[in-house]
Amino acid sequence: MAAPAVKKVLVIGGGFSGMAAAIELRKHGIEVDLVEIDPGWRSYGAGISLGGATLRAFRRLGILEAFLEQGAASDGVEVCIPTGQKVAELPTPRIAGPDVPGNGGIMRPRLARILAEATRAAGANVRLGCTFSAIEQDGEGVDVRFSDGAVSRYDLVVGADGLYSKVRETVFPEAPQPRYSGQGVWRAVLPRLDGVKGTMMWMGAKVKTGLNPVSRDQMYLFVTEDRPDNAHIDPSTFLDSLKELLARFPAPLMQQVRAQLDEHSQIIYRPLENLLVPAPWYRGRVVLIGDTVHATTPHMASGACIGIEDAIVLAEEIGRAGSVDAALSAFQARRWERCRMVVQNSGRLGEIEIAGGDKEEHGRIMRETLMALAQPI
Ligand SMILES: Cc1cc2nc3c(=O)[nH]c(=O)nc-3n(C[C@H](O)[C@H](O)[C@H](O)COP(=O)(O)OP(=O)(O)OC[C@H]3O[C@@H](n4cnc5c(N)ncnc54)[C@H](O)[C@@H]3O)c2cc1C
Repeated sequence: MAAPAVKKVLVIGGGFSGMAAAIELRKHGIEVDLVEIDPGWRSYGAGISLGGATLRAFRRLGILEAFLEQGAASDGVEVCIPTGQKVAELPTPRIAGPDVPGNGGIMRPRLARILAEATRAAGANVRLGCTFSAIEQDGEGVDVRFSDGAVSRYDLVVGADGLYSKVRETVFPEAPQPRYSGQGVWRAVLPRLDGVKGTMMWMGAKVKTGLNPVSRDQMYLFVTEDRPDNAHIDPSTFLDSLKELLARFPAPLMQQVRAQLDEHSQIIYRPLENLLVPAPWYRGRVVLIGDTVHATTPHMASGACIGIEDAIVLAEEIGRAGSVDAALSAFQARRWERCRMVVQNSGRLGEIEIAGGDKEEHGRIMRETLMALAQPI
C-alpha cells in the first residue's frame, strides 16, 4: 500500500474550527500539533446559538452528549412582532437525528472547554501562548518557525486563526479584508425566564431582538441594531443604550427582560463584519478554514457550524486522497457553495433589516437557508 500523503499537520488557531480539525485529523492517525496564541485558551462572549447542522457536526466530533448536558436544545424558532403576538414558527429540522432537537444554544466558554477537552483527548499536541513566526513551503513540505524558537516541518498547515488571520495575511496577502456590515449586536446573559422554552425573536421595523436558552437556568439576549459605522461605543453607556432599544418592544416578556438588566449585567456590543475569500482557500500545502475565509454575520447562527464542517470535510478528504493537492481540491469543491450560501444569505438578511425591508423575503431566506443547511455535507 502507498504511504499516506499526510502524516504530520500543524493547526494554527485553537478556536472551534481549529479544534475540530485537530480532533478529526487524529481519527486518521495523523500527528497533529495545534498552536494557540492565547496562553489561557479563553473564549470570549456570551451565548452562542446553534442549528441542527451544528448539532450533527457535534455528533460526528463526539461532543453531542456533553453539549446536551451543558447547553440547551429545543425545536423551532418563534417569530413575534414587537407587541408580542406570534406571527410565525420557523421549523428547525432534526438534522442530528430523530432524538436530537433541531436548535440549541450554549455559553461560548463552555463549548470551548468541551472542544478543548476533546482535542487533548484525541491526542493532539497543544501549545498555548504560541504562534508561527515564519512559514516556508516547497513541493514536499512546509517549514514553520514558531514564536518560542522551535522549528518543525509538516506535510500540511491548516490556518484556523479567525477573522483577522495572520496565516491569511502571510500566505494570501491579496485576499480581501473583513467588511463592516452596517449592523452591530448587543448581547447579555440573564437568568432564564419561565416563558422561554426555546429560541424566540421579535422583529421590529429595523431592530430585531431575541432570546435563546443556553442552559437549564440561563438564557442570552441579543439585539441587532443598524449603525452607520463601527465607531467605538463607550461601555459606560451600554446599559442605557440597550434599555432604550428594548423599550421599542412592548411585548410583556421583553419588558420583563428589560427590567432584569441592571449595572451588574454583563453587556457586550460587537459590530458585525463579514468576509468571503474567493476560492481556492489553499496554496500549495497551506489551507485556510473557518472564519479565516468565510466569516458570516450571525443571522443564521451558522458561523461555528460551517467552520467545524470545514474541519470534518478536510479530514475526510485527507484520509482518502493519494496526494495533498487532490485532498485540498476535493475539500474546496465540497465547501465553496455551502459556505458562500451562508455568508451571502446572512448578509442579505442584514441588508433587509437595515432597510426595514420585506419581511416576507426575510422569512423566505431564513427558511430556505435552514433547509439547505440540512443537506449532507
Ligand atoms: C457577534 C457574533 C455573534 C455570533 N454568533 C454566532 C452564533 O450564534 N452561532 C454561530 O454558529 N456562530 C456565531 N458567530 C460566528 C462564530 O463565532 C464564528 O464563526 C466562529 O467562532 C469561528 O471559529 P474559528 O475557529 O474559525 O475562528 P475563531 O473563533 O476566531 O478562532 C480563532 C482562534 O485562533 C486564535 N488565534 C488568532 N490569531 C492567532 C495566531 N496568530 N496564532 C495562533 N492562534 C491564533 C484565536 O485566539 C482563536 O482561539 C458569531 C460571531 C459574532 C462576531
